[in-house]
Amino acid sequence: MNKIESLVRGNVRSLCPYSTARDEYQGSIGVFLDANESPYDNGVNRYPDPHQKQLKARLSQIKGVPAENIFLGNGSDEAIDLMYRIFCEPGKDNAVMIAPSYGMYSVAADINDIEVRMVPLAAEFALPKQALLDACDANTKLMFICSPNNPSGNAYELDEIIDIIKTFPGIVIVDEAYVDFSTKGSLRALVNEYENLVVLQTLSKAWGMAGLRLGMAFAQPYIIRLMSMVKYPYNICQATQDAVMRLLEEPVDEKVKEIVEQRESVASQLNVFSCVKKVYPSDANFLLVEFDDADAMYEHLLKDGIIVRNRNKVMGCKNCLRLTIGLPEENVKMINSISEYDCVIGK
Ligand code: PMP
Repeated sequence: MNKIESLVRGNVRSLCPYSTARDEYQGSIGVFLDANESPYDNGVNRYPDPHQKQLKARLSQIKGVPAENIFLGNGSDEAIDLMYRIFCEPGKDNAVMIAPSYGMYSVAADINDIEVRMVPLAAEFALPKQALLDACDANTKLMFICSPNNPSGNAYELDEIIDIIKTFPGIVIVDEAYVDFSTKGSLRALVNEYENLVVLQTLSKAWGMAGLRLGMAFAQPYIIRLMSMVKYPYNICQATQDAVMRLLEEPVDEKVKEIVEQRESVASQLNVFSCVKKVYPSDANFLLVEFDDADAMYEHLLKDGIIVRNRNKVMGCKNCLRLTIGLPEENVKMINSISEYDCVIGK
């Protein structure tokens, strides 16, 4: 058994996965009487491709990663959950993660009865490399690193993450949901080099398809095969597969460029307000901002019909709001509302 195989739960290693009706044939078939579907064509009367071959082929071109290294899930949230279900023994194993970070790593751990070990980020939200490694023991199967990190917004140097991948014997999950807004680059091309690396990306952010629910995991083929075995057979519906194929042809570079420009503009406008204590540097499509009183600012913005994410109660984010960068006119509305608070209410 190789190193990665030995990390996999015994029941998953020996799993005989569900085989769908369409797995058993190859070639051209004109009459489909194998899957108990309705024969009346309405565009969705047939089950979707459980292997999402067409979609993976297109994403393989776009991402420059072979299709055998790609898993597609119902959002990257599905891939996060699968990591626990494949590698972690409930009630016994644990996962190490940076804090603050994306909430689903710990929620999915709780659902799967896996101990969570949170390691606070260092000053200025730097990666606490040694502390992460020190938090591990023989039962640590997973380590989650989000880069650019939600909610702090900063991305880590790839070399720093690679050091951890080389040292930690378990699976390192690098969540790159916001990578398209960053200049630091992606680790996805390295998944065949580092057998314990899983890179998550999503179409929910820069690609503008949050409503379709399509997340990607990049990993060595053995891990992708495990994920495909454990997922629900038809986890990506036909409507999503069709709409994603169509929307992938619409370039997003200009929109990403505009969001990054807006991010920098909003950051500099925020910096002049006395109610703003700190605007953290961001490599994502949002800004983490420390206010004099985050709860009061949150309520003030709500009153103006603007909702942001209140992170006041999150570890290391006291008095912070997370502001998503919207359309230029939406950002103006938010800045105007904050300005009104700054001039009138905050005094
Ligand atoms: N990872 C991070 C860091 C996120 O912030 C989010 C969503 N906010 C996700 C993953 C989930 O993405 P998806 O929509 O693909 O499930």
